Amino acid sequence: MNILVTGGTGFVGANLCHKLIADGHRVICLDNNYTGSLDNVADLMQHPNFSFIEHDVIEPCVVDTPLDRIYNLACPASPPFYQGNRSIFTTKTCVLGILNMLELAKKHGARILQTSTSEVYGEPLVHPQPEHYRGNVNPIGIRACYDEGKRCAESLMFDYHRHEGVDIRVIRIFNTYGPLMNPEDGRVVSNFICQALRGEDITIYGEGHQTRSFQYIDDLVEGMVRMMENEIGFVGPVNLGNPGEFTIRQLAEMVLQKIPTNSKLVQRPLPADDPSQRRPDITLAGEKLNWAPTIPLNEGLDKTIAYFRQKLGL
Ligand code: UDP
Repeated sequence: MNILVTGGTGFVGANLCHKLIADGHRVICLDNNYTGSLDNVADLMQHPNFSFIEHDVIEPCVVDTPLDRIYNLACPASPPFYQGNRSIFTTKTCVLGILNMLELAKKHGARILQTSTSEVYGEPLVHPQPEHYRGNVNPIGIRACYDEGKRCAESLMFDYHRHEGVDIRVIRIFNTYGPLMNPEDGRVVSNFICQALRGEDITIYGEGHQTRSFQYIDDLVEGMVRMMENEIGFVGPVNLGNPGEFTIRQLAEMVLQKIPTNSKLVQRPLPADDPSQRRPDITLAGEKLNWAPTIPLNEGLDKTIAYFRQKLGL
């Protein structure tokens, strides 16, 4: 198949490109490289089935090759990169980006998968979060550019499905980590591992009692492909995440146990609207896709630490 991956040089996108190429597909990787890096796909650049287009999804896009599938991943996902003076750009990337990709999907008759997010649940009042929970997002807070942008993108997906007949799939991704993460991305797993490897302080925001459920990248990529290729007409949205739930302090302690270091735990202010708990209910993914994560945090952290050791030369 001919497959377009937007956000293809980012952490999740690049891992997906590698899987799709390994499965024998032709992959067009599209990115503006704002948070992604060509380093993540350097080994694919000479592959006959791989091509790269430098493009921003905010702008309409013409692709000459007939497309069978579009995975829309384009959007910065780390709070320090999507907030602040980038926040308007983030909303545009979510909303104009999916509009442009839906138009492209319509033109090509391609199936399109939108990578939505657990952020659509905001500060959840239901725990764990099932897909039918409608969430508790602060629409005017500093995370809203991302949360509401992704919510609007879901809305557009379903309107193009209902009114334009576009073949859609929607997944909601929970916190994911693994090789090809950017060491400077600012996410908690990459921060803690890189801080420990460099002997720097481990920065816990707030008390560290907030929880997250961490999914290893290979589990996510498997779930994405299963969702895209399901032929039962299941459009979602479906949660993809690992239900193993940890406090941020527990994560820091796990990292410290695995990396001999002089690093100490230090507290930093908790960012506004930082969700206090998050855990996916993955019953639906099990029923519809026969999918469940297979790699526990303990094992995934070892693989990720090995990746960062090599990347940072430490
Ligand atoms: N966090 C932290 N220290 C860091 C980076 C993040 O304590 O150096 C916290 C952050 O406040 C949040 C959790 O870890 O509660 C997950 O943050 P991340 O940015 O990885 O993901 P998200 O907030 O989008 O779930």
